[in-house]
Amino acid sequence: MLMSKMPALFVGHGSPMNAIEDNQYTGTWTSIAERIPKPEVILSISAHWFTKGTKIMNEENPKTIYDMYGFPKELYDVSYNTAGSPGFAKISRDLISRETKYDNSWGIDHGTWSVLVHMYPDRDIPVFQISIDADASPEKHYKIGKELRALREQGVLIFGSGNIVHNLRLVDWHKANKGFDWAYEFDEYIYESILNKNHDNIIKFNEQGDIARLAVPTPDHFYPLLYVLGASDEDDKISVYNKSCELGSLTMTTYLWE
Ligand code: ZN
Repeated sequence: MLMSKMPALFVGHGSPMNAIEDNQYTGTWTSIAERIPKPEVILSISAHWFTKGTKIMNEENPKTIYDMYGFPKELYDVSYNTAGSPGFAKISRDLISRETKYDNSWGIDHGTWSVLVHMYPDRDIPVFQISIDADASPEKHYKIGKELRALREQGVLIFGSGNIVHNLRLVDWHKANKGFDWAYEFDEYIYESILNKNHDNIIKFNEQGDIARLAVPTPDHFYPLLYVLGASDEDDKISVYNKSCELGSLTMTTYLWE
């Protein structure tokens, strides 16, 4: 069977409440899924599976994880029960050159399901996650992405879920659809670098000094981008969605390589 090469997607997921809301962001997620080829399998790299070492979920039936606190009950009623993909977990493990471990203590977390409920509400596509090694350098995350690139030829959607600017400590409830200057500036720096295919600029985001420290106070939400970037191809067409800022210090910018 000839399979079309799957895109690679980075989504700015924002608040978990997006799972149960219909807004401009979630509408965009739905329309992306409608436009791209339907994946055989989804490999998710979520900001919320941040671990010691690189872990790969190889469960047949992964559970839905509620890794967020203090939200309305409706959100905890959402489940995203799909099959897992032990087969592609194994293929991924073989592709990654560094040491990895199978680990099924986690499940499909809200970084993954808050977006997929809008993209693939039928829950008919197997999903598995690979964790982000908290101790690995940006170069190493990017390299894993490169190693996983071959999955795109096998019908796998490489899906990174995080936020390019994500500083919860500085959230400002008076800035509903607005951002601080530094948030726009950092988001723009990444945007320019992505469009110019200057991946080195993105891997070395820390060299941006203050704006990088404010935008990425901890790297968990930023690193999923490095996997997707690694999985991108020189000749991919790049599309940008939801280029906006919420609550001062969160950007929702989403990138598709196809
Ligand atoms: Zn998050």
